[in-house]
Amino acid sequence: MKTIGIIGGMSAESTRIYYDRLNSETRRRLGGLHSADVIIRSLDFAPIAELQAAGRWDEAGRVLAAAARGLEAAGAEILLLATNTMHKVAAAIETVATVPFVHIADATAERIVAAGCRRPALIATRFTMEEDFYVGRLRQRFGLEVMVPEADERAMVHRVIYDELCLGMVVDRSRLAYEDLARRLIERGADGIILGCTEVGMLLNAANVAAPVFDTSLIHVDAALDLALAEVVRAAAE
Ligand code: GLU
Repeated sequence: MKTIGIIGGMSAESTRIYYDRLNSETRRRLGGLHSADVIIRSLDFAPIAELQAAGRWDEAGRVLAAAARGLEAAGAEILLLATNTMHKVAAAIETVATVPFVHIADATAERIVAAGCRRPALIATRFTMEEDFYVGRLRQRFGLEVMVPEADERAMVHRVIYDELCLGMVVDRSRLAYEDLARRLIERGADGIILGCTEVGMLLNAANVAAPVFDTSLIHVDAALDLALAEVVRAAAE
């Protein structure tokens, strides 16, 4: 099995979700006492969030590139950046990485296309919903017409992510607001809902959304495990 390196801490809540999923899914796929071979570089999110808010993305990219280099030096054979938003600076990592970097938007888009959805709606941070690095990539590379919420809805979603979910707070009122939003997006024609922020699965899932749900953190982990376990699975089949 290959060693997976996670650039995490953005937020720590989502890194916990990644770690849990990596292990439960490895156990499910391989059985017995198997668990994932993982190295986590968990960053302090506060200075990263300050760089985001100040628009100092190049600096943030340098921090992430240094983390990627460190993970490789420690033995990582596959790299994951455990946040959608910071994929805005994915190129900074891809430039220094010499091992596969699994892009969260590509993994998610492949799953959406395989499910036969063409017009999913995106629930994410304002950066991810409003800038082109994510929506544009899904359109240009995968032909997906991504629907984004209205301005006031985007502000609500963003506030809940940074003021609650990234702090580990799961609030009933916010869950209801997210459920209402998902319902409106489906009424407007969305044929699926992308949980395009790695913490949104704390509020939404297939049980409370009436359309296919694409949870980016779970999909991202599964795509990394497809790579990490490919040889083990092949050997077992022989
Ligand atoms: N984890 C979130 C995401 O997937 C938001 C936190 C961040 O800005 O990295 O976008």
